[in-house]
Amino acid sequence: MSKHLRSKDSSISFLRIASVVAKDRVTGETTEYPESGVFVQIGLVPNAQEFEGQVAMNKRGEIETDSLGRTSVKNVYAAGDVTDSAYKQIIIAMGSGATAALTAVDDRNRME
Ligand SMILES: Cc1cc2nc3c(=O)[nH]c(=O)nc-3n(C[C@H](O)[C@H](O)[C@H](O)COP(=O)(O)OP(=O)(O)OC[C@H]3O[C@@H](n4cnc5c(N)ncnc54)[C@H](O)[C@@H]3O)c2cc1C
Repeated sequence: MSKHLRSKDSSISFLRIASVVAKDRVTGETTEYPESGVFVQIGLVPNAQEFEGQVAMNKRGEIETDSLGRTSVKNVYAAGDVTDSAYKQIIIAMGSGATAALTAVDDRNRME
């Protein structure tokens, strides 16, 4: 549940959380809790479903890569949160992106 609030001169309006209504998934019973804020837990499922069956993935749905960003398919590389890398953080994703890109160039140069 939310309340519409307006500043004194009505130039700014915004929503404020007033309460959270929780539904028991087993009984269907709902309970309203007065609250002033919520944290939204978005989960840890990687957005890699469309590659299922195309590259090797682990049981968590993460794309498996070697330490250089190579996937199970030749000349296909992966980096960042969709991979089986430890710690889903920006600096990790950036580093693995650079590693995968450099590996792709290196692999290509070796082909020539
Ligand atoms: C709420 C929240 C808070 C976070 N706070 C921190 C923090 O404080 N510090 C920190 O280090 N990390 C934080 N992270 C984690 C960090 O954001 C990620 O680790 C990082 O963004 C991963 O980078 P990425 O490039 O792998 O993926 P993303 O940044 O998710 O980039 C993937 C991109 O691919 C695009 N995309 C997806 N599917 C397709 C498709 N089919 N075709 C084309 N494009 C597609 C998406 O739109 C997106 O732009 C936070 C994450 C969240 C969700």
